[in-house]
Amino acid sequence: MTVVRTRFAPSPTGYLHLGGARTALYSWAFARHFGGTFILRIEDTDLERSTPEAVQAILDGMRWLGLDHDEGPFYQMQRMDRYREVVAQMLAAGTAYLCYCSPDEVEAMRERMRAAGEKPRYDGTWRPEPGKTLPSVPGERKPVVRFKNPLDGEVTWDDVVKGPITIGNKELDDLVIARPDGTPTYNFCVAVDDWDMGITHVLRGDDHVNNTPRQINILRAIGAPLPLYGHLPMILGADGEKLSKRHGAVSVMEYPAKGYLPEAMLNYLARLGWSHGDDEVFSMAQFCEWFNLDHLTRSAAQFNQEKLAWLNNHYIKQADNARLAELARAHMLASGAVFEDAPALPAVLALMKERANTVIELADAAMLFYRAPQPDAALLAQHLTDAVKPALAQFAERCASVEWSKEALGAMIKEVLAANGLKMPQMAMPLRLMLTGQLQTPAIDAVLQLFGRETVLARVQKHL
Ligand code: GLU
Repeated sequence: MTVVRTRFAPSPTGYLHLGGARTALYSWAFARHFGGTFILRIEDTDLERSTPEAVQAILDGMRWLGLDHDEGPFYQMQRMDRYREVVAQMLAAGTAYLCYCSPDEVEAMRERMRAAGEKPRYDGTWRPEPGKTLPSVPGERKPVVRFKNPLDGEVTWDDVVKGPITIGNKELDDLVIARPDGTPTYNFCVAVDDWDMGITHVLRGDDHVNNTPRQINILRAIGAPLPLYGHLPMILGADGEKLSKRHGAVSVMEYPAKGYLPEAMLNYLARLGWSHGDDEVFSMAQFCEWFNLDHLTRSAAQFNQEKLAWLNNHYIKQADNARLAELARAHMLASGAVFEDAPALPAVLALMKERANTVIELADAAMLFYRAPQPDAALLAQHLTDAVKPALAQFAERCASVEWSKEALGAMIKEVLAANGLKMPQMAMPLRLMLTGQLQTPAIDAVLQLFGRETVLARVQKHL
């Protein structure tokens, strides 16, 4: 088995979106599966659209997801000398040629072809052929460099996702590989990079299918081995439209802020375009073990927010409580939480995480332990009846000495209830109101235990 080398090659023109993250995940996992190398390459040659903020967003997203690269990040803008070198070699080898047509002339030739009902393409004016006399070089004008694409035949590759794809060379133009100022163009840079970086497998979005035959022809011309290509179908919103802002967050880095755990996002993205039997919940170690490019889905994947939330709930339940506390704390502080003289946050989160779909939901739910209770007077009057008050007084009395464990508190409440001929809600509801200001809390014995003896006594006695 050849050594596997994969790459993720984003253009830093915006945030790292979900589709990009899935491409990165698959490339990473495939390299990990074979003990290969995963390379990060920043395709920043589009100077007008590339920004340092977008580069940072990509690096942040990759770090949050834990998709560690073994080589790079390489920046195409730092490889300009290398591209120029290959252009010069291709000119010398005759696989590329200078073209002195002005943009207007090229546009005019395209217009003529469109008018004649043909596919608009470069007509080969400057393409050298045996026995052909080229036009004379116009004095001032700087030439572009064009790739000498094969005129006949076709390009075929066995796409790892889509199966065999064939494109006729007649469909392909003599691509400009360097502009008049010498700067190289997109498909050319990708081909040179994939060659230099020894890439064996290219996984990318299927918006690149049209680029692949061009890159294959260039790779052949420079004598480079061909990687295998796999084009992943795009991700659609629940309504079947291409995923966009309208569908909610498309930037990966909006998810930590919304309280998602990276392991939930990774698990979700792994299944979005790939399957392993009925397995829905699995670790990245497991995914890397399974992911060998079999069972990639050919059809477009549909983004399903509920499923992501369900997975997030699963991983929140699994997560270490101290880690959850760290994630929740800032949000809670911003909501006015007071942590002094209050129960330990990890213990509170452990009690409440069962139903939380996000860390934000969890943090909001946990707030009941960290703000002064302000029970509604009417509600309190409704629940704190004269029939209940004597029982609560006994409860308070026994609180002073009862062993402060959930079990002992639960047993003590049951005894008080029995002695007073009451049912659980008749004591639990007023206790909840007095302790937290709300009627909905986790089980009352657990809540009492967390608040601690002093707080419970202070908050209950205040109302008796
Ligand atoms: N830079 C391209 C993009 O962001 C990816 C190119 C590739 O993977 O070959 O879409």
